[in-house]
Amino acid sequence: MEDRSFSRHIAQALEAQQRFRASRPPFTPAASLAVEEERLSAVLRTLEERLTDNYPFFHPSYAGQMLKPPHPAATAAYLMAMQINPNNHARDGGPATAALELESVAAIARMFGFETHLGHLTSSGTIANLEALWVARSLHPERSIAFSSNAHYTHGRMCQVLGVKGIVLDSFDRFEEAVRTHDIGTVVVTLGTTSTGELEPLAALLPAARRLGVRVHIDAAYGGFFTLLSQGNAPSVEPSGFSLVRECDSVVVDPHKHALQPYGCGCVLFRDPAVGRFYKHDSPYTYFTTAELHLGEISLECSRAGAAAAALWATLQCFPLERHRGLGPVLQECRDAALSFSALLAGSALLAQYRPPELDIVTYLPRTAPFTATAVTAMTDDIFTTLMNDPADPVYLATLSVPSDAVRKYHPSFVPDAPTTRILRSVLMKPEHAPYVPELFRRVENEVRRRTEQM
Ligand SMILES: *Cc1c(COP(=O)(O)O)cnc(C)c1O
Repeated sequence: MEDRSFSRHIAQALEAQQRFRASRPPFTPAASLAVEEERLSAVLRTLEERLTDNYPFFHPSYAGQMLKPPHPAATAAYLMAMQINPNNHARDGGPATAALELESVAAIARMFGFETHLGHLTSSGTIANLEALWVARSLHPERSIAFSSNAHYTHGRMCQVLGVKGIVLDSFDRFEEAVRTHDIGTVVVTLGTTSTGELEPLAALLPAARRLGVRVHIDAAYGGFFTLLSQGNAPSVEPSGFSLVRECDSVVVDPHKHALQPYGCGCVLFRDPAVGRFYKHDSPYTYFTTAELHLGEISLECSRAGAAAAALWATLQCFPLERHRGLGPVLQECRDAALSFSALLAGSALLAQYRPPELDIVTYLPRTAPFTATAVTAMTDDIFTTLMNDPADPVYLATLSVPSDAVRKYHPSFVPDAPTTRILRSVLMKPEHAPYVPELFRRVENEVRRRTEQM
């Protein structure tokens, strides 16, 4: 969307508020709230200046962490609703945005193929996961919660908050044995790990979990919307895990990661609406069914921005959750960017791939001589800093510490002379990354070339 039409939509959001206010008799705004126009302008100029201390998340040359601006549709809708400032803690906090939330959450539930669901938006993936683990603990109060060493770090922390024993599994290979040894009541399976976008082996785990009475929670905070690309007869993302989410007990997905939203928008879904009974506070007991969803009674958090629901709803109107139109093609471009980056790595004498990308995150390392953990870590750090500080045209990557043994698994000639190795990582989460990949790759390769020629 060009800037001119964005400005028009922002103006539309402001006018909507004036029309809404005009529906009531005029009143005098409090004098105590007045700010001189010049003063506010000056403050905003200072703020603009202060905000330049940021990386250019909007630009394809920013290929570091999971960061990008929201879509203008989300911004305009957020602004429109925020001027009313509804609170989605309960229906009375703003019936309109409560309805928009239920519709948006139902669309996400349909994307996963849930036949029934209870769910709502949250302020973040962390809170959404906390809520899923809290329900898990309510169902299995004495049993532990297991997750892999690649799971998001907040799972361990949230187990502490909940007073539940958290079990870190180095791999899911001996899952049945672990269930018995540690009395596991719930297993967290991550579809799209934060560091590499790995899809953990849900298809292999689910039958054993079912047989042993273990709840399965899916953390798809990052990867969830890639479900769209796993559908149809030519999936571009491995479908075996995503197709089974509908059979799992709960799932978390972050619209503020891959559904073009500003921060403050996570989502948790439960397959069985009856878990609503755990949220009961001072409201009369209700048997919760999809039809009776009542936001105030099914959320761990109290106040939440109704504007976040309005923004998500408006975005999903423009970008429906479909494979071949709407959000699907946006994610496909990110996936394509990762695949073309991976193809360039395969043909490079200077850079090596770490893990093949399963979503849109690429992980790679310089082919140093000697090819050791120490040498790779040193060059990774050097390239990362040099590119970021390039005065003419900076490029922003991220670094990632991985077990050196894992690098050796992919590269037998690698010498693990330190327990961990720092490698390069790029989250190619903007569709604009697709056309930028050749340039990005050339820039990184040049840095390796300069350094290996000096060796
Ligand atoms: C980002 C992420 C989280 C945490 O979500 P926040 O929205 O940052 O709180 C949890 N799990 C995974 C897999 C994530 O990628």
